[in-house]
Amino acid sequence: MGCGTSKILPEPPKDVHLDLVKKVEPYTGCKNDIYKHFIKDGGDAIKSGFPSPPRQTNPCSTARMEQPEPRKNRVAKYRAKFDPRVTAKYDIKALIGRGSFSRVVRVEHKATKQPYAIKMIETKYREGREVCESELCVLRRVRHTNIIQLIEVFETQERVYMVMELATGGELFDRIIAKGSFTERDATRVLQMVLDGVKYLHTLGITHRDLKPENLLYYHPGMDSKIMITDFGLASARKKGDDCLMKTTCGTPEYIAPEILVRKPYTNSVDMWALGVISYILLSGTMPFEDDNRTRLYRQILKGKYSYSGEPWPSVSNLAKDFIDRLLTVDPSDRMTALQALKHPWVVSMAASSSMKNLHRSISQNLLKRASSRCQSTKSAQSTRSSRSTKSNKSRRVRERELRELNLRYQQQYNG
Ligand code: ADP
Ligand code: MG
Repeated sequence: MGCGTSKILPEPPKDVHLDLVKKVEPYTGCKNDIYKHFIKDGGDAIKSGFPSPPRQTNPCSTARMEQPEPRKNRVAKYRAKFDPRVTAKYDIKALIGRGSFSRVVRVEHKATKQPYAIKMIETKYREGREVCESELCVLRRVRHTNIIQLIEVFETQERVYMVMELATGGELFDRIIAKGSFTERDATRVLQMVLDGVKYLHTLGITHRDLKPENLLYYHPGMDSKIMITDFGLASARKKGDDCLMKTTCGTPEYIAPEILVRKPYTNSVDMWALGVISYILLSGTMPFEDDNRTRLYRQILKGKYSYSGEPWPSVSNLAKDFIDRLLTVDPSDRMTALQALKHPWVVSMAASSSMKNLHRSISQNLLKRASSRCQSTKSAQSTRSSRSTKSNKSRRVRERELRELNLRYQQQYNG
């Protein structure tokens, strides 16, 4: 989710506080609106990071669909980019993911035949270098069952290759769509694992800062697979003697906590806000805060303005909604910590008091509807361009086919 949006990369904090949130509605008295004084009229578009290429596997992401090249050629192309030290030890098998500065490939250890993932990061540019440094700094420190493990690192002048555990179960939402059923109990299972990982990170003074469904991967395709947190490119690790306050503006727009938007010093509770957004999506297939216009999106976030209207919310328990509300709390000091979230009755009881209603139909339909409208908007954006390349026509066709396939898969699974 959050596809079509860009990751906002860290940038040095400025003294000016209002350049991120401009031209927003006047205060309407929302009880959550503690940042109303940051909201003012006038001004133009929001300052943001640069657009990142879309992701690979999420149903609403488009990167996988934008690969018209035959798979064999692509693999050959990526193989050629690898340092000989890496290819001496690992067989490059397939491209499995793409990020802002990275390519992720599935590899096989030549001697042991063990599969791994290698994330190759371009470090030629400052942003790539910073992302890489953050990621390595964190991955070298962590060891937890719900966090992807770093195995080894190869560094060259222009690239860093991180050999990591391979997660083969796919991204969180691909699995939900493919699963055929999804209940509140399933949601609590997912969240418990993510919360365990986040609690561990926070205990170490690490804030992930980019928690979102694309960065939550299933370890294997089996039903009992654990879920793992990946992508520490925006993570911040507290150094000894540091206070726990961060100032850098970064994240993915739909998941950014209000305090980051107003450039207040913030804490690891920004991860808990993102978990609130993820919980909301997990139970509905829709985003709590969504607008193609980033100014309006940020306005919604600052006000903590979201609703439980539409399917499947009438079927969702009040306890689940209470869990979300306690995470999507604008004032970070009132927001649940990871430990508190793990102790929330909805999680502890594994949603025992809620009906075992299958929310899958609405969730999948909402996810697919969203993917479809994203494709449509990409399509119209493309059609307004004066020179459309064959490549983009082709990628659109591939995207549309992908979407049809997803729809079909969903229909088949749901109907029998
Ligand atoms: P970025 O920082 O550029 O977003 P990520 O680390 O999130 O890069 O990787 C991009 C995508 O690659 C992920 O969304 C996921 O689909 C895939 N991926 C990353 N790491 C792994 C892994 N260890 N195992 C399997 N797939 C992975
Ligand atoms: Mg990522």
